Amino acid sequence: MDYPNLPNVRKLLQSYPRRANANRTEIERMQIDILTDLDAHEFEVLEGCLIRQLNSGDPHQYDMVAEIMVDIQAYTSQNRDRVLLAALDTQQFLPAQWFRGAGDTVKSKLISLVRHNPELAKRGLAWIGDEEAVAWFVEKKNKSRNQNSINGDHNLYPHDAGWELTPDNEKRPLFSLHCFEMTPVHWNPLSPQFKQHENPELCEVCNTRIIRVKSLRASLLKDLFAISPLVETVDFPFCELCTMLTEPLRAIVSIDGTAKICKSILKPEDIADWFSEKRGEGGCITIDIGARRDPFFAVDYCSRDNVSQIGGHPTWVQDSEYPICNSCGRTMLFFMQIDGNQLYCIFPFVYYFFICDLCPEQIAVSNQHT
Ligand SMILES: [Zn+2]
Ligand SMILES: [Zn+2]
Repeated sequence: MDYPNLPNVRKLLQSYPRRANANRTEIERMQIDILTDLDAHEFEVLEGCLIRQLNSGDPHQYDMVAEIMVDIQAYTSQNRDRVLLAALDTQQFLPAQWFRGAGDTVKSKLISLVRHNPELAKRGLAWIGDEEAVAWFVEKKNKSRNQNSINGDHNLYPHDAGWELTPDNEKRPLFSLHCFEMTPVHWNPLSPQFKQHENPELCEVCNTRIIRVKSLRASLLKDLFAISPLVETVDFPFCELCTMLTEPLRAIVSIDGTAKICKSILKPEDIADWFSEKRGEGGCITIDIGARRDPFFAVDYCSRDNVSQIGGHPTWVQDSEYPICNSCGRTMLFFMQIDGNQLYCIFPFVYYFFICDLCPEQIAVSNQHT
């Protein structure tokens, strides 16, 4: 491509897409420094380059634009509407989360695209999620109800963007804007260190070893969702096999904070095939909570390494799947996620943990994979 004759913009464009290498952190810091310092003229030139790259139809160029768009969104308050409008014109696949924070021109364009490209338009509007976008979803919901059509899918796209319409047509967020980096420390029951902790624990449903996230400070619930916890620490047990075969896995927290996987989720015949060949090592996990991070840090899965976090918006590898609370029937809230690559797992998926803000005893765990 032709790089513009502005040193900062040129340097920036040449540094994308980021590759996994030893200098990655350094490169990211440089990119953020340049992005946050761009003046109005430099940003306009950058926009022009991004639009040309989008129009080129070259997938490599498109990857660059995707990463730069995410970084502009995460680290600056620059308006991305011009690039978004151009992107909509290219008719290419666009990640819906690009539309978070988009302005009125993009919103109008998406509304005009509903008939032509309903999937992208609705996803984009859900990610914008402002008052007008919410009103648009309420109107669609009321219309489909009047036509006596099957109702209930009106929250499909809002769920993707982390919110839903309540029965009273209010916008209810399903994740916390507080977010912390987190590192799971997995005690493998086969390792000598584990023996000091405890014996392998078996799943009552499928009899394989379970993994238990131990002794999580329940005060985190207060930090994240302003829920007053009833216990000091809470456990999230999950069984790899059951999580794989049922979505989601349910557990009930007792008054001492320990949790038990619900028994009734699987029939033995469902797991028979898996049981013989797959056996996880189980163990327990303790959680190291790190620095505060942007709640949308892990949304763009492709460009992020470590998606393990407490709070924030979940990284859906597939479509969003918020469980319904077994006790009150409301949609459960996203609490944390663990990258299975950091665990001794047979299935290194992303594991998602949910709580209910009304029913402190109800927890759920699910996973997704590519
Ligand atoms: Zn199990
Ligand atoms: Zn509930």
